[in-house]
Amino acid sequence: MNSQRVLARLFPVVLFLFAGCAEPVAHVSASPAPATVAAAPPAANAGDLQRLVNEAHAKFQGVTDGAPADYIPELAKVPADLFGVAIVTAQGDVYTAGDVDYSFSIQSVSKPFTAALVMQQQGSDAIAQKIGVEPTGLKFNSIMATQIIPQVSVNPLVNSGAIASVSMVQAKNAKARFNTILDFFDRLSASKLKVLDDIYKSEAATNQRNRAHAYILAASERIYSDPMEATDVYTKQCSIGVTAKQLGIMGATLANNGINPLTHERLIDAKYVPKVLAIMMMAGFYNESGMWAYTAGLPAKTGVGGGIVAVVPGKMAIVGFSPRLNDAGNSIRATKAIEYIVDQLGVNLFGSGR
Ligand code: GLN
Repeated sequence: MNSQRVLARLFPVVLFLFAGCAEPVAHVSASPAPATVAAAPPAANAGDLQRLVNEAHAKFQGVTDGAPADYIPELAKVPADLFGVAIVTAQGDVYTAGDVDYSFSIQSVSKPFTAALVMQQQGSDAIAQKIGVEPTGLKFNSIMATQIIPQVSVNPLVNSGAIASVSMVQAKNAKARFNTILDFFDRLSASKLKVLDDIYKSEAATNQRNRAHAYILAASERIYSDPMEATDVYTKQCSIGVTAKQLGIMGATLANNGINPLTHERLIDAKYVPKVLAIMMMAGFYNESGMWAYTAGLPAKTGVGGGIVAVVPGKMAIVGFSPRLNDAGNSIRATKAIEYIVDQLGVNLFGSGR
């Protein structure tokens, strides 16, 4: 590595280390000063990040609320006690605790990445105009949402919009379309990913509801390839196996403005990254997106496989994985672990709260 590249690599590290040190700007005011002034969030170093990942894992290990998804029969067989926590920084440093090498199905965490692929191919207006970017406030598979918002299929993070996203991926046929998506995910995760076949078959045999979404879209010309083909490619996409670590690298690529911090490959144009993060902020937790913004204040995406990735722009991705879900289909332990780390680091985008 030449010295310029070394400097370029070190610069964001230094920025990151010092970002948390900034003192609040003193302001002159007629009102009396508060008795105590809250300290700015502490600067995080490698030791802090490893400690926080360990703490989050230890703290919520005992939480057994919720249940693994069972509407996809094979998902109910995934050991419910698995729990992994990972941070991958925008510099490519990885901190992990727990079950971070278990390959679980990516499910809906795939959706923002396919939306990013469509933006790369067709620009961000294509997503806004042909799918939409408004949150529904309804469940991820709400047929009603797909019906009542007729001009678009709602947003790329609910099932109907995600199937529409898949249908927009430019490729000569369904097989090539899936391979284009898989290749993109491989590059995002700096890994060779593969479909978890049992999960794919199990969902393909039971995805009548998603097929219904695709046909509703087709009836109003809101799907852009054959509806059943798009549903099948979508189902395969959801069955791609990722570890918490690999998902962390995918998230860190978003945190690093579209460049994979491990391979240094630019995968998403910088101009599209804020758009992807915006839809994650508005709809990443489905009908709990408002509460997630209220508590954690970060763009994130959940999946019924138990994975969640949250992105701190310019800094890091924080990942939790644990199969037990709440009613909205969001992993309970993963949510708690990420919320804890966000709070400890003071990286809520709306303010550290300190
Ligand atoms: N493949 C799942 C489905 O279509 C994804 C849902 C999710 O992760 N919320 O139902």
